[in-house]
Amino acid sequence: MSSTFAAGRVRAQTSPIITTTVCFLGIALLLTGLVAHVVTTMTRSANEIDDARAERAARAAIAALATQLDATTKDNAVWDDAYSAIGSPTAADWAYENWGKTSTDYPLYDGAIVIGPDGRAISAYSKGNTFQPLEYFGKAFDRQIKAAASAQSAPLLNFFRTETGIALVATQAIQPFETTGALSMLSVLSFYKELTPTVIDMLSNEHELEGLRLQSTPEPGLLSAPIKDMDGATIAYLVWPSKAPGSAVFRKVSPYVAAAAGILVLFLGGVLLAGASEARRLRRLAEAARFEASHDSLSGLLNRHGLLNKLEQLASLGPAVSLYLIDLDGFKAVNDAWGHAVGDELIHIAAKALKNCHPEILAAARLGGDEFALLQFGSAPDREIEESILRIFVDPFKIGGRTIEVGASIGLAARTGSVTPLELLRRADMALYRAKENGKGQAVAYDPELDLERQRLAELESELRSAIGDGAIEPVFQPLVSASTDIIIGFEALARWKNIAGDISPEVFIPLAEKSGLIDALGVHMLKTSIRHAKNWPQLGLSVNVSPIQLCNPDFAAQVTTVLQEFDFDPSGLTLEITEGVLMSNPDQARRSIDQLRQIGIKFALDDFGCGYASIGALRQFGFDRMKIDRSLIAGLEENANGADVLRATIALAIALEIPVTAEGIETRRQAEILRDSGCDQFQGYLVGKPMSPGEVEDKLRQQATAA
Ligand code: C2E
Ligand code: CA
Ligand code: CA
Repeated sequence: MSSTFAAGRVRAQTSPIITTTVCFLGIALLLTGLVAHVVTTMTRSANEIDDARAERAARAAIAALATQLDATTKDNAVWDDAYSAIGSPTAADWAYENWGKTSTDYPLYDGAIVIGPDGRAISAYSKGNTFQPLEYFGKAFDRQIKAAASAQSAPLLNFFRTETGIALVATQAIQPFETTGALSMLSVLSFYKELTPTVIDMLSNEHELEGLRLQSTPEPGLLSAPIKDMDGATIAYLVWPSKAPGSAVFRKVSPYVAAAAGILVLFLGGVLLAGASEARRLRRLAEAARFEASHDSLSGLLNRHGLLNKLEQLASLGPAVSLYLIDLDGFKAVNDAWGHAVGDELIHIAAKALKNCHPEILAAARLGGDEFALLQFGSAPDREIEESILRIFVDPFKIGGRTIEVGASIGLAARTGSVTPLELLRRADMALYRAKENGKGQAVAYDPELDLERQRLAELESELRSAIGDGAIEPVFQPLVSASTDIIIGFEALARWKNIAGDISPEVFIPLAEKSGLIDALGVHMLKTSIRHAKNWPQLGLSVNVSPIQLCNPDFAAQVTTVLQEFDFDPSGLTLEITEGVLMSNPDQARRSIDQLRQIGIKFALDDFGCGYASIGALRQFGFDRMKIDRSLIAGLEENANGADVLRATIALAIALEIPVTAEGIETRRQAEILRDSGCDQFQGYLVGKPMSPGEVEDKLRQQATAA
């Protein structure tokens, strides 16, 4: 039971460990996930912030370029000298001297174009050489010129696709610094700056845009800023690679992150392994506890709990299962004689032999001290299994040089219909009980009749209980006569139960009273009623039978004394007859009771001598005043000459020890003669008188008196 509990406890311990491990792993993974998320978010955000900065820088670079060209254009177009020069006939020369020549290697513009009010080019230089601006910039240039000519305000700036690339063109009407009204028909000055690789490099350096390039299309994976013409159409892209500082930082720290991840993985692995090994350990413990709960530690067989479980499991096999209960005969004596170590060894050997006694034995169990159970599944007949079991006990066991003999009683029950395991066990137990009652080495199969019998016995027991109280049990008296004179010298009281269903033999109800604890009450009742009648013939002795169980009761002597005092009966007129069994099983208490009662003058007779093991020596030791030779020995006297010799010798020995002998159950004159010759001084039996009622005793005594 405690092992079942232990198994439960171990199971209860395993689940928190698994739960804790899983929780721990879960939390660790969650934290890892969170950290990974934070790192990637930081990386991405840093990248995004820098990308945004770079885009702003690209726009600023373009704006800076525009601002510079705008300022240069304004400086040159709004200029009194230029205004008057471009209006004069030497305008072309002046424009060349001041602007066209400069364009050769001037950092602020690559070309200068002056268009007159009539739309014709007065001067057009690119890198110091003349060129055709309309061809170079396309038609849109014409529109910019016209727009600028009609407005005197700030320069117009636009990007143009040129024959060689992209250029920023600023245009403004050439005008005096101070004007007093609207001027008509103005010439127009244009400067342009080509977005050459050098310019792009310069922008790249000044605005921290590493790897900046000009391309006609954006490039996947690169950042870009569009460059639009005066109509808003994209004509080129500034592209540059993202600096991705977050990624750079991440790359720098990634070895540490990797190391941390590695350590975490190792750590989690360790936790997982530790958790798994602890769970395995607890599982093993639980298994061991489960095994312990269902097994007997001494024999290694199943215990009662295990057997019932097994029967439950086998229920599906149908009725072909038989249960054999085996009880060792004489095991207690082995324990008493050789000690528990030898007893345990015997159990061990018997267990092993029983388990393997027949191939159809499916399971074996030990249910208690020396009680075993075997489960048979198969078609072998009962007889075959029983013989296999009994064969184990045919030869004595050899343990530590000792030869030990034990037998076995077997009770068996076969499963029929839907018999529960507990019921099957009960039936086999009932059969075993009957087997033991029948004597050693027996096998009994369960029969419903056994249940009926037990039920009848239970009913009888309750009837017996009331019979003792209401006087339905009464004594009859059988004469005890002197062997030499044939004169009655006493009576033995024998219990009679007149039941409604008929007379019930004391051979039935005395053992029943002994088993059910009624024997003390019955004994006192018999003593009282026999004494009440025997008071009528005070000159004669009274013998009363006493059960061994009564004698073992420490109050027995006191009970008898009280009854004698109650009826004022002379103790020396009372003989108590006891059988020898008690002398062997509980000699100390028996001797105490006998000694106490002999002290007040009560005599003791050993009943049924010759059918047990008691020696004449024991008779003397316990101080018996008389011995009664059992009826069974007397009955065989005439047929068996050898028996007569043994009987004669026994009687002679008793007489030599000064113990007088009564022969009981004498039925023939021949028996009486032999026993008289052998030295018996007292006879009892149908020949000299059957058990009789108190009234008949009176008649008998009267007859005897008149005859005398
Ligand atoms: P027991 O003490 O040996 O009593 C003698 C039995 O033999 C009696 O049987 C008696 O009727 C029977 N008997 C006597 N002479 C003859 C004979 O010549 N031939 C045959 N065939 N039988 C004879 P009973 O009365 O049936 O008693 C049986 C046993 O029951 C007694 O055997 C005794 O052990 C026990 N018993 C009877 N009354 C009591 C009692 O009050 N208390 C106790 N404890 N046991 C009692
Ligand atoms: Ca007797
Ligand atoms: Ca007897």
